[in-house]
Amino acid sequence: MSSSLFPSPRRVAVLVPLALPEPYDYEVPEDMEVEPGSYVIVPLGAQLLVGVVWGEGASGLEAKRLKPIAEVLDVTPMPEGLRQFIDWMAAYTFNARGSVLRLAMRAPGALEPARVRLVYRLTDTRPARMTPARERVVEAVSDGFARSIREIADEAGVSDGVVRGLVEAGTLKAHEMSAEAEFPQIDFEAHGKPLSGEQAAAAQVLCERVKAEGFAALLLDGVTGSGKTEVYFEAVAQALRQGRQALILLPEIALTSQFLERFEARFGVRPAEWHSELSTRERARVWRGVSEGRARVVVGARSALFLPFAELGLIVVDEEHEAAFKQDEGVNYHARDMAVVRASLGAFPIVLSSATPSLETVVNVEQGRYERVALTERHGVAEMPVITAIDMREAPPERGMWLSPVLVREVAAAYVAGEQSMLFLNRRGYAPLTLCRTCGHRIECPQCSAWMVEHRFRRELVCHHCGYTSAIPKVCPSCHAENSLVACGPGVERIAEEVTERFPEARVAVLSSDNLRGPQSHEDAFRAVEAREVDIIIGTQIVAKGHHFPWLTVVGVVDADLGLENGDLRAAERTFQLLQQVAGRAGRAERPGRVYLQTYMPEHSVMRALIAGDRDAFLAREAQARERVKLPPYGRLAGVVVSSEDAGLAQKWARELARAAPNAEDVAVLGPAPAPLALLRGRTRIRFLVKAGRNVNIQAYMQAWLEPLKVPGRVRVSVDIDPYSFL
Ligand code: ADP
Ligand code: ZN
Repeated sequence: MSSSLFPSPRRVAVLVPLALPEPYDYEVPEDMEVEPGSYVIVPLGAQLLVGVVWGEGASGLEAKRLKPIAEVLDVTPMPEGLRQFIDWMAAYTFNARGSVLRLAMRAPGALEPARVRLVYRLTDTRPARMTPARERVVEAVSDGFARSIREIADEAGVSDGVVRGLVEAGTLKAHEMSAEAEFPQIDFEAHGKPLSGEQAAAAQVLCERVKAEGFAALLLDGVTGSGKTEVYFEAVAQALRQGRQALILLPEIALTSQFLERFEARFGVRPAEWHSELSTRERARVWRGVSEGRARVVVGARSALFLPFAELGLIVVDEEHEAAFKQDEGVNYHARDMAVVRASLGAFPIVLSSATPSLETVVNVEQGRYERVALTERHGVAEMPVITAIDMREAPPERGMWLSPVLVREVAAAYVAGEQSMLFLNRRGYAPLTLCRTCGHRIECPQCSAWMVEHRFRRELVCHHCGYTSAIPKVCPSCHAENSLVACGPGVERIAEEVTERFPEARVAVLSSDNLRGPQSHEDAFRAVEAREVDIIIGTQIVAKGHHFPWLTVVGVVDADLGLENGDLRAAERTFQLLQQVAGRAGRAERPGRVYLQTYMPEHSVMRALIAGDRDAFLAREAQARERVKLPPYGRLAGVVVSSEDAGLAQKWARELARAAPNAEDVAVLGPAPAPLALLRGRTRIRFLVKAGRNVNIQAYMQAWLEPLKVPGRVRVSVDIDPYSFL
């Protein structure tokens, strides 16, 4: 392709990664060649920015007023599939196209020429004057391999100067070599585990869809431990066999070394990774590798969806029900839903994998849009764990304690038998609330409407919303009473305190994001558990996912009711999913698992479904309830948050918005109301919720509503299509 694709005068539309809805036109200078997708440097105001050629120039702007493109970068142009996807996603999520483009350009350095290093090889020329040191150099490089000056000097045992002398003399010749590690060749024909009959049948369906090279959405629905990973690895192998690339999306916390090792066990090498812990240099390497087709499989967190795959032929979304796939800041999007769109635009299959699929996905299966492939049995001899509720009204913990005697007995039994147990509580820190016994004052974050959480190990109070920290006060900040502040409620640290008191001999590990910073400490902690160096694990949701601990037999959920408190539309569904995942950690090998739910509501439908193991009945009831009130997936929602550091201004604009909301059939605008998090990082927040029928074009409604409003810069109006958070 050349610039002749564009009619003269040569002008093209260039999209820049800023919050701008449309590309701008630029002139292509005489001697420059660009094509759709080319990365170019263009002037915008006083700046020079990297943008992407989006298509033909369109504006009626006079040719002489167009600014010329400054430079074309020497990188593979952005594939058409990705550009289409960015356009589609921007329109759907109600974001500026430039903002979505920015997600696809988050690899600083990737657009610069790849770093090269100079290496040297022996030529036929010999220096006029030979010395023993020079002899040694010639000897060292006579095997024909290229090496850096440093390496040659080391091997020959000479100074750098001697080597440089030989370069000058023409005895060694410089070559450029990529300084980046290459992506190792994936061996997709080897190492496959022999699959069970059920697994093989599932893998075959997946592979057939991959072979067909058309869009298909599949739900791989299998109980925890049934081998879903092994099965979708076969689909990945099939995509590779067909010369396509594959992407496996995981919630960030499931992207563990355990997972990468399983990949390696199947494919012989580690995949390319993409997540927030990557160094800038590694990001650039992966981005380029994907774009040039050298990286064939990427395992990544949600933002991997925006990598410039040219030959993508399969996406797998593991743990598809996970709320972590929803991004709630900046550009709001649901990576699972957007992955389905990317597959559909690119005409290739997508596999959604889960033991507890989301209601959205289950309804898509029922309505025939997705195909369900089921795995009903755990692999090998492992049985599903037995789940029991502990009614906390009947078997309450002792005063100041949090574990029921029933649970304590089970943990003790496991400990005596040399097995591991795990206590799950999805709450970091020591106590979620600090209260003054004298005046009733609760310590809140000064910038957020949220309680400060005590972290006793760190000896401070922390806001979990904005990260603000303060020392634990000695006197009440309000009434100045001494020794009057008490910690209310438990976090994992407090449970650890109780466990240590009850089982002083036991080896206890607290696994939460506060104790595990970075992948290495994760790895160390999980390895210690696998190696049976830990007897009792106390963990937040970090332990709920994907880990395989063969010696873990007892799981205790400290507060099974916790997730039900916030009452949003998915509270029951999410609690069910989370507890089912946690329960799935128990009894994954020879020894059967037992799970105990501490609850004050054993009659709640979530507890009953968990105990009976009747997921489908639970989902059916949830579906009915949502259908009755036309909530997703039977209706559409959009959240709108008006926020400002100036509370008065936020209120004024919330009223403006309320006045401006157009009337439309089957659309209701609820609000304005103070958001549950009415103050966040010093900004006052006011919420609207738009509720519409399934057939309403909610984006068009939002456009008609919000576009005419000229909101000042100090007020932010953020729109969240298909919201998951209502805070
Ligand atoms: P899921 O993802 O469904 O929870 P996994 O894929 O993690 O299940 O499998 C659970 C465990 O069983 C893993 O340790 C896995 O290696 C093992 N496993 C599953 N299928 C097989 C198989 N066909 N042969 C050997 N091991 C298997
Ligand atoms: Zn805060």
